[in-house]
Amino acid sequence: MKKTIRTALVHSDYRPPAGFDAFPPGVHRASTVLFENVAAMRSGQWKDKSAYTYGLHGTPTTFTLEARLAEIEGGSHCLLAPSGLAAIAMVNFAFLKSGDDVLLPENVYNPNRELGRWLSEDFGVSARFYDPMIGAGIAALIQPNTRLVWAEAPGSVSMEVPDLPAICAAAHARGVPVALDNTWSAGLALRGFDVGADIVMHALTKYQSGGADLLMGAVITREGALNERLAQAHMRLGLGVGADDAYLVLRGLPSMKLRFEAHDAAARQVAAWLGARPEIAKVLHPAFPDSPGHAHWQRDFQGAGGLFSVLFDPRYTEQQTDRFVDAMTLFGLGYSWGGPNSLVMPYRIRALRSRWDEAGVLVRFNVGLEDPADLIADIEQALARL
Ligand SMILES: *Cc1c(COP(=O)(O)O)cnc(C)c1O
Repeated sequence: MKKTIRTALVHSDYRPPAGFDAFPPGVHRASTVLFENVAAMRSGQWKDKSAYTYGLHGTPTTFTLEARLAEIEGGSHCLLAPSGLAAIAMVNFAFLKSGDDVLLPENVYNPNRELGRWLSEDFGVSARFYDPMIGAGIAALIQPNTRLVWAEAPGSVSMEVPDLPAICAAAHARGVPVALDNTWSAGLALRGFDVGADIVMHALTKYQSGGADLLMGAVITREGALNERLAQAHMRLGLGVGADDAYLVLRGLPSMKLRFEAHDAAARQVAAWLGARPEIAKVLHPAFPDSPGHAHWQRDFQGAGGLFSVLFDPRYTEQQTDRFVDAMTLFGLGYSWGGPNSLVMPYRIRALRSRWDEAGVLVRFNVGLEDPADLIADIEQALARL
């Protein structure tokens, strides 16, 4: 059929080369997905992924990534979201409605706390915060209207490792599902379903990407019924992800375990060096014996990754520790982690907790893929500026 240039620019004769096969998956970009005929359009289901129906509901690239992430975590269903926080929102909107109650740990990722507050103030949901070290004691907090329990291991910034099997068992005894933010472990140091979680959430922004160059999240489940509720929220909220970003995560996965182990070894080395310094009062790293919940980490985890915090000796003011942070050259001052570059971030932890008994300024470190000896030298020169 003859085409005008206008039509030809839209309809090319391109077909993928026959007989072409390679390791990297294809990058499939589409808003519109074409149906063979009306019958195929009417029977195609986005809910169970039995068909491609619209770019928002998935492409071969995103389905491939979802399948691989589910496999890593030991789950059977996965849904992608455009950020870790969007994945958290998907879980909350899937399981909470007006009149419901949700329990979140005090040390939850702070934007999840913000979302909890918003749900409380404007959506008729009660969001209550529990001591992350509560363990089986959480049973006393579960109400007849509690529909979801969030857990995070270790918790953001202050790094307490909760007793996950005890929290999950108490929630299950009352028929309440547990959602675990498993970002710190990347599904490598801890598999969420093994400790009883029903829903496992990841910020792929961190280790899965590994490049500090994209934002993405994932929610993984084992049960079809849970996944169906999540898929409904995923569709209603319009949580699509770009094919190129999905490809970048797929590209990062083969090296993830090696990167994670390198982050882990270097972080332990840097944290141990810091722990021996007179300027540092305490190292908050789950693998260190005086870090809260260390025994839980020892029992449930295989590895640690690159993220930990320290408390400075209380004799140093925030002005002094800010000078320390500003003096760092290899550690960039910025949020997030899991990429090749080391990062540092001071936190005003008292403003993030209802109760905080420790003295001293808290500073969080993300140890990247640099030589730990160089990182230690950088910290040493910055400590001299205190
Ligand atoms: C980074 C992070 C998130 C959110 O991920 P984004 O992609 O930045 O939205 C959620 N939970 C934890 C524990 C994180 O570290």
